[in-house]
Parts: sequence; structure tokens; C-alpha cells
Amino acid sequence: MTTSADPRAHTIGELVDRLASVPGREGRLTHVEELPSRAAVAAPWPAWAPDDVVAAFARQGVTEPWRHQVVAAEAAHAGQHVVLATGTASGKSLGYQLPALTAIREGRGSRGDRGASVLYVAPTKALAQDQFSRIRALGLDVRVATHDGDSTREQRDWTRDHGEYVLTNPDMLHRSLLPAHERWAAFFGALRFVVIDECHHYRGVFGAHVAHVLRRLRRICAVYGAQPTFVLASATVADPEVAGERLTGLPVLPITGDDSPRGRVSLALWQPPLTSYAGENGAPVRRAASSEAADLLADLVSSDVRTLAFVRSRVGAEQVAMTAASLLAEVDPSLPGRVASYRGGYLPEERRAIEESLRRGELLGLAATNALELGVDVSGLDAVVMAGYPGRRAALWQQVGRAGRGAGDALGVMIARDDPLDTYLVTHPDALLGAPVEATVFDPANPYVLGPQLCAAAQEMPLTEADLPLFGPTAGDVVASLTEVGLLRKRPRGWFWTDRRRAADLADIRSAGGSPIQLVEEVTGRVVGTVDAASAHGTAHRGAVYLHRGETYLVQDLDLEERVAVIARADPGYTTSAREITEITIVSEHRHRRWGECRLAFGEVDVTHQVVSFLRRRQPGGEVIGEEPLDLPERTLRTRAVWWTVPDDALAEAGLSATDLPGAAHAAEHCSIGLLPLIATCDRWDIGGVSTARHADTGVLTVFVYDGHPGGAGFAERGFEAAGRWLGATLETIEACECDDGCPSCIQSPKCGNQNNPLDKLAAARLLRLLLSTS
Ligand SMILES: [Zn+2]
Ligand SMILES: [Zn+2]
Repeated sequence: MTTSADPRAHTIGELVDRLASVPGREGRLTHVEELPSRAAVAAPWPAWAPDDVVAAFARQGVTEPWRHQVVAAEAAHAGQHVVLATGTASGKSLGYQLPALTAIREGRGSRGDRGASVLYVAPTKALAQDQFSRIRALGLDVRVATHDGDSTREQRDWTRDHGEYVLTNPDMLHRSLLPAHERWAAFFGALRFVVIDECHHYRGVFGAHVAHVLRRLRRICAVYGAQPTFVLASATVADPEVAGERLTGLPVLPITGDDSPRGRVSLALWQPPLTSYAGENGAPVRRAASSEAADLLADLVSSDVRTLAFVRSRVGAEQVAMTAASLLAEVDPSLPGRVASYRGGYLPEERRAIEESLRRGELLGLAATNALELGVDVSGLDAVVMAGYPGRRAALWQQVGRAGRGAGDALGVMIARDDPLDTYLVTHPDALLGAPVEATVFDPANPYVLGPQLCAAAQEMPLTEADLPLFGPTAGDVVASLTEVGLLRKRPRGWFWTDRRRAADLADIRSAGGSPIQLVEEVTGRVVGTVDAASAHGTAHRGAVYLHRGETYLVQDLDLEERVAVIARADPGYTTSAREITEITIVSEHRHRRWGECRLAFGEVDVTHQVVSFLRRRQPGGEVIGEEPLDLPERTLRTRAVWWTVPDDALAEAGLSATDLPGAAHAAEHCSIGLLPLIATCDRWDIGGVSTARHADTGVLTVFVYDGHPGGAGFAERGFEAAGRWLGATLETIEACECDDGCPSCIQSPKCGNQNNPLDKLAAARLLRLLLSTS
């Protein structure tokens, strides 16, 4: 391959052709989409913006804002709740900083005392600290402070008494600020704006908790006479108006028109080829997306194209950078040094150094995990390569949005992983490029979330009848049951928290699965990591081979009482996989729909899991070399599920015999789990499934897909609502897959408790066609 001095010497189209036409790569490029460039639309500064604030932005290079920034700032300034959902690098922060800083400057008393306060909430500490530096860099006389787990007592006291622009995270709001509201009364009473940045992070159980933390915040502010305006921001939220209202409980104005400039963008979709390697049950396996990413990274760097490769894991990012460097060494000995990897946890100086050398073009290729989204300011790239779909459509555009110098042309390449969702997307470009169907879901009514949140609210201030509507239509029932079990006590002034514990400790807002199991190294006693309670039985049982950050361990013992798994470094030459029995019973059906003779339903279920044994598989190769029984207790999960049933006569009519049914239902279940993220912002690890040729509660063939979190997270409900689209994509994926009898791209699942057995690809297609023909 030749190198050219100027990347603009070849167009993006030529570049894509060149990548795709390397001998042996036939058929890998499945689609190229060209998106036209967009011109900037500027707007004048609002008349109310103070001169010094405008001057501060001007010093940062913003002489004239873009129109969407002004529209957002004007709305927020007028007290309208807003969700700003424009692209990466579209300057969303100016949209809320301008009204927020204005309120602070104008609220100041004559002796410099605090008149207005602003609360900025980011999903992580790192993001809040990043935002802190940016506000400091404006050089304005504003008392800005972060409030997080690292803040000292003195810092906290200062923030409470003087802080005007306070940056924190939902965890601190939940555990520290709200429970101590009496001491923070002056701050809450002066609160004018609440900024919820990167709001797409709040989904699933975490999203439901944060929704209630924000309701608690609103209640406390009201007590001190404040009604803050909420401004939400995200480059990646689908259906922002609905997501924003669900999160805050308030009507929000969506601002989605992006007036920042953009060059022409080409998005290439890429599918790795099948290899000769045989996977589980002899299935064909595709080449790893990360191997393809390393090849493409090397090719682009050797063409002098500044490229960023997104890889799922840290270890993966390091491997991609190393592989690309060794490929480049064959082209030119000076090139390997111009590729690096980036992972989370770098010091600010290290991050700045990487940013600088990318900007100057010394570094041409970078392989990174998503940690890059948090804090590193990378610009000056020509191309972005993604090893796998980043999980959400909007997140894909956010990553592609990293490419493009100013208004220059940019290339994005999305490489499919060997799973049903990625395979579907690279073969159905419309699902990425057409009207969005993926919704950010969470369920604030989940009683497992609402219960502890109402306890926390009651400890902050007794709950009254008038408070209940704020927490949703089911709050009354949940309060009644909390009173019944003695956590709350009814008195004339409302419901009181009577327990001696801190109510906020009842809820771990980032997970709902009980306390995690610690992995402790036998020799050193060091805690190597944790594994969540729900998956510990399957991955950290005695005898399990456990992979952690690229190191192999053998689990010596799992103590469920002490929540500890003792592990030791080992290289046993095999992997293990747990065999699990799952049973499901219907507790109550909430809604249903008929599709001809078939039936779709949504409701409450009990899912019982028991890990009963594990298999040892030789590495490499994968053949089973032994099975050992385990004695682990059953676990029951009360959650929500979507399920569909097909009566016997319809099955017979479609030519499906009794022996076909278990494999057909199981295969349809697997593939549908893989594709649920197409319509809801979850990943396949958030959900589970059970299929049976005859279920005791329905009497007929039934396939269940359930939320893997107690009380449900909204994913199954979304599956019920968008069932036609979801199951239609499932059928297409199975029918289109080029394998004969099933593979990881269609019906095999990496999390199957039954070793992907039985699975029947053809019968699954027939079953789904029958189901959908009646819809
Ligand atoms: Zn397949
Ligand atoms: Zn399975």
C-alpha cells in the first residue's frame, strides 16, 4: 500500500473502495451511506446575556452562538424545562451555561452573597470534574464547586454555604445532599436551574431510581420556596421529549434541530467473514470484529488517515493497537510508533498529551474504549472505526461524530460482531438510517425502586397525601404496603420513617440485584473485582474458570453468606460453562393482544433459576471434557415479561411436528433476545428468556422474554408494544443468516444455560412466520 502525504488527496469514496477491494475482502462491505454536509446557522446573543458572560465565551472562541444554543438558552431563561438533544460537539453546554451563569451573576447581593444557585448533575464523577474545569476556564467571578465522594469536609462546608454552581452526581444527591437538606436549605431555596447532562445514561433500573431522586429534589426545593428549571442534555437520546418527561416528571421542550456545521459523512457497514473454525455445536463462527478493526486501523494509518478505533473492552483496545502496530511495521518501520491505545483511568496530563499528539498528527491511530466519551477531547480525526455496534443508534452517531476536521469530510466504519443485532444492522441499513424505533426505557413505577425511594423521601420529610401524585399513580399502594410492614408509620401529619437505619441506604441506585460478590485472591487476600449477585452462581461457582481483565483465575470456593468468591491465578487449559435450569410462572397478566389464533401478553412473572452443574471445555477447540454437579440454591426473581403463545392446531397446520417444537421455540427466543435492543435501550444481558413447547400456565407453546431486574425495567413492556417490528426483525435475521443450522449471528446465545441445545433454525423460521402471518 502506498502512503500519501495529504489525506485530502483521495476522497472518502476512493478510500472506502480501496479498503473493500483488498484481495480476500469480497463481500465484507455491505453498505455505504453518504450524509450531506450541513451549514452552520448562527444567531445573535440574547439581549439579557450579561456582557462579561458573553465576553467570557468569546475568549473561548464563541463569538456568535449557533441558533439551537440560543433557542435552548432563551427557553430555559424563560423558565421552560428543556431537553437539548443535538449532536456531539454541537455546543450543548452553552445552551444551559448561558442562562445559569446569567442567573448567578444577576442574583448576587450587593455584598457578593449568593442569590441564585445552579445544580449540575452528571452520571459520573469524571464528567462533573471535566465540566468544572470548563466553567473555571471561562474566568468568570462565579463560585463553582464539585461535590462528590472525594470532597473533604471543609470543601463540602464551603460549597454548602457559598457554592453557586455546584457539580455533582445522582449518587451524592441521593445519599448526601437530599438527606441533609436542612443544612442545605439556603442552597435549595435559591436553586434556579438543575442541569441533567448526558441524560441517556439514566435507563433501566438506574433510570427509574434517578427519576425518583429528581422527584425528591423537586419536593425539597418546593418546601424552601424554589421551583428550579430543568435543562437536560444528551447527544444520544432517542425520543427526547418522552425520556425527559419520564425522568423529571415535568413537561419538557425538546430541541433537536442542530445548527452546528458538519462536513460530509460516509458511513460504511462491514461484516467479517465466516471462518473455518467450528464453534459451539459445530457452528460456523465469524472473524472477530476487533481483528477486522485492527486491519482497517492499520490500512487507514498507512494511508495517513487519522483514525480512532472504538473497541468494547480495555484489553481489546490494547490488542487492536498492538496488532495494528505490528501490521504497520511491515509497511514502514516508523509507523508503529504512531498508533496508541487509550483506556479510562489516565491522568489528566496523560490525556492532554494524547489529545495534543493527535491534534498535531504525530499520532495517527488510536484504539480506545468508550471511556473516551468521558473526558477526552479528541478532534482532528478523519475516520472512526467501530468494532461492534455501540448498543444504541444515537451512540453510533456520537462515535461517528468524532470524525471530521471542522467542515472536512469524515468516514465511519461499523464492523458487525458475531451476534444477531449487529448482523441485522449491517444487512438492514434502514434500521440505522431510517426513522428511529429504539426508545429509552425505564419504569419509575417499579415497586422495588419506588419502595426504597419513598422511604428515603419520608425520612427527608414526612410524606403527605398531597406528595403522592409526584411519585406516580402506584405510590399510594406502595406507601400502604410499606406502612403494613412497619417501615413507615402513619401519623396525622403524614407518613414517617421510623426505622433507625438511613433510608437512603435501602437503595443502591446503580443496581437492583443485591450486594455484589467480591472476588478475593487466595494468596494475597486482594479484592480483584466484583461480580453482581445475579450472575455469581453461573460465573463464580466453585471450579469456574474466571476471566478478569485478561487474566485467568480458577474459583476455589464461593461463599454466598459472606458474599465472597476465593480465586487463584491458573492456566487450566479449559473454560467452564454453567448449566442452569430456569422455570417461569405467570403471576398476573396485565395486557394482551390477539394475533389471529396466537396471543401476545405482558405481565408479572416469577423466574426461578438454579445452576445445577458445569461443563469443562478444552481450549482451544471447545469440546466437552467433563461435567461436574453443583449444589447451589434456587433463586427467584419477580419481574415482568412479554410472552407469546401458539395453539396446537395452528402448529400442526404449519407442518411443525412435536419434535420440532422445543428447538423452534428455543431458537426464536434466543434470536428475539438478541434483537430486543433494536427497539429498547437495553443490551441482551439485561434480559432473559424461557421457551417451552407446552407451558403449564398457558397449556400451549410459549416463549417468554423477561426483564432481568426485580420488578422489571421496562424492556419487556417495550417488546410487547413494538412486538411486530421486533419479532419481524427476528424472523428476518434467522432467514437471512448464511449458516446452515444456526450460529452466533442468528440463534446461538453466549448466555444460554442449556449449552445452545436444542436449536432448530428452519423450524424457528417457520414458527415465527406463522406467528407474524396472523399479526
Ligand atoms: Zn446463523
Ligand atoms: Zn438457551
